[in-house]
Amino acid sequence: MEDLKGHLQCQTPTQGSDIWYWNNSKNHEFSVKCVKASLGQQLDLNSSTYEFGWNNWVSNKCIMFVWRAIEEKIASATALRNRGLNVQEIVCKTCGADEESAEHILLKCNFAKRTWEMVTSWLKIPMVNVNGSLKDILMEINEIQRSRSMRKAIHAVAIQTMWHLWKTRNERVFKGRQGKVQIVMEEIKETSYQGVKQRSKHDSISRQEWWDFNVIL
Ligand SMILES: [Zn+2]
Repeated sequence: MEDLKGHLQCQTPTQGSDIWYWNNSKNHEFSVKCVKASLGQQLDLNSSTYEFGWNNWVSNKCIMFVWRAIEEKIASATALRNRGLNVQEIVCKTCGADEESAEHILLKCNFAKRTWEMVTSWLKIPMVNVNGSLKDILMEINEIQRSRSMRKAIHAVAIQTMWHLWKTRNERVFKGRQGKVQIVMEEIKETSYQGVKQRSKHDSISRQEWWDFNVIL
């Protein structure tokens, strides 16, 4: 508030209507060329970017969540503190071993590790690298030696895994409920099954086949 007051006191209001101007050009005029030039000073426009893989076998809500989590833009304690909120305690409420970031909640926390162990053994794929990043996991999954549809199904499960880990974390933080890996696992299996059944052309898969991951896509 004091900062804001300071800033406002330095401003002299003038008559006339408000106008927009672009700070990064000499005459304050906006042009796409100017935007490109100013971005070019901060980013290497020729470097290859990470391409986030969308997946329409999960809901938009889940995939958007993961997209934001990769960028640490979900409301973890660390992210809130970095946004200037007065967060007293940023240690993970589940394990107490580290600061609570998106990467910690969804991958590095003991609870997440145990969940990923169960998920990968259910999917019959190698355990994900918990020392890597969320981005790395999704990239690893895209390179698994399976058919394209199987990779898409496994990717959908990974998205659901992150979503349910986040939901479980919220239940713990806001409602004091202790989540169980076994319960999270059941939710992941059920929601990923419903997603594939309703959103893909593979609608003949039975629940039992999916729950055993005894499927060929
Ligand atoms: Zn933790």
